[in-house]
Amino acid sequence: MVDPATEEAVASVEQLDVDAVDAAVDRARRAWPAWRDVAPGDRARLLRRFAEAVDGDVDELAAIEVRNAGHTIGNARWEAGNVRDVLHYYAGAPERLFGRQIPVPGGLDVTFREPLGVVGVIVPWNFPMPIAGWGLAPALAAGNTVLLKPADLTPLTAIRLAELALEAGLPDGVFQVLPGRGSVVGERFVTHPDVAKLVFTGSTEVGMRIMAGAARQVKRVTLELGGKSANIVFADADLERAAATAPDGVFDNAGQDCCARSRILVQRSVHDRFLELLEPAVAAVRVGPPGSEDTTMGPLISEAQRQRVRGFVEDASEPVDVAFRGGAPAGPGFWYPPTVVLPRSADDAVWREEVFGPVVAVLPFDDEAEAVAMANDTEYGLSGSIWTRDVGRAIRVARGVQSGNLSVNSHASVRYWTPFGGFKRSGLGRELGPDALDAFTEVKNVFIATDQ
Ligand code: NDP
Repeated sequence: MVDPATEEAVASVEQLDVDAVDAAVDRARRAWPAWRDVAPGDRARLLRRFAEAVDGDVDELAAIEVRNAGHTIGNARWEAGNVRDVLHYYAGAPERLFGRQIPVPGGLDVTFREPLGVVGVIVPWNFPMPIAGWGLAPALAAGNTVLLKPADLTPLTAIRLAELALEAGLPDGVFQVLPGRGSVVGERFVTHPDVAKLVFTGSTEVGMRIMAGAARQVKRVTLELGGKSANIVFADADLERAAATAPDGVFDNAGQDCCARSRILVQRSVHDRFLELLEPAVAAVRVGPPGSEDTTMGPLISEAQRQRVRGFVEDASEPVDVAFRGGAPAGPGFWYPPTVVLPRSADDAVWREEVFGPVVAVLPFDDEAEAVAMANDTEYGLSGSIWTRDVGRAIRVARGVQSGNLSVNSHASVRYWTPFGGFKRSGLGRELGPDALDAFTEVKNVFIATDQ
């Protein structure tokens, strides 16, 4: 592992092979019946203890993430706190896994929400802690055992979470972290017949491959994939606020965020004024050492990612017009400055493809219908924002945009108690919120005859 801010080695972690994965699946399979049968109140208590162990370790987890992933210390603390909060939230679930009672002639029908067995969670490098928590917490709460594969680049916080789970008293084999390559550990989750369900977050390309592989066993999948989300600014909006928060909406985590609002659509009459307001907001992004309290943007995760981002700007096949950009340190580290570009048309790669870096493209639109059409002219549909003072328009546009998570007059739409997931090629199924438990249980229907 390399510190993305310094390029210095941080740690090395053993990569598991297929035999080691099979042994872990076997442990998880054997641990399952006892975990499933833990009384709901006791399972809830164990999850709360796990949450408390994470809470006691927030500073350590955050420090690890700063070194391993280059996240700013403020973000990293929030991310560790998010794991704690998600565990607490789903600790309420074991005692609320209700079924239904459905009257039927000649008897009674009751339903149960049964856990699935062993769940495999595959995590990307962009948000190692929250994405781990979003999968593992509801899966465990519903009575499944969990195998978690962190990304090759960022396994360290997941390894620490597994230690904390054991310290909190979770039985052996109930939650295991398996570092290793996607092509080895991740693939084995897909092919192993004893892994009943896959939760995958990452690129759309790998997500499609996982879905195809899972089909062979009719294996359940939840997919959280890419995005190319629109930030739509109407002329009647609070332009100052829209411009001041647009950098937060796209440059957070150096733009390595599936929800990044990486396309800004601005109504033509206020386009130039919006750019005037955006320029100082971009200049104010403080790019620097991620461990410093006042840094608001750190480096990219790797040199490969920086090359990918440059491929959309400096090394693009067609020249790209950079409107303005912020600063970035020189010297070692995978730095890239926050950058605003003006595409020539909606066909440019920087407008269509997921950059996954601190690059935002701005284009004008004329009216509401065009804004919705432009926002939807993408294979993705994960998030987005709408800025207007007209409530009716806000709701019309929110209903019109084919996307799973939208915000009106705000740049933020992800909260652990509300559902999260994509439309179109941005994913399948929902995480977070109360309905996430549906992804980790199957409904069983039992008819009880009363006519004898
Ligand atoms: P990947 O989709 O390759 O990786 C995500 C996770 O899947 C990692 O844990 C990876 O393991 C694992 N994985 C890779 N191949 C397989 C496979 N065949 N079977 C099972 N698991 C597998 O994303 P990248 O890290 O390569 O990033 C590439 C691009 O994807 C980014 O630039 C970005 O555009 C997008 N992306 C989107 C994310 C999102 O949140 N929507 C998150 C990450 C990336 P390992 O890395 O250890 O090999």
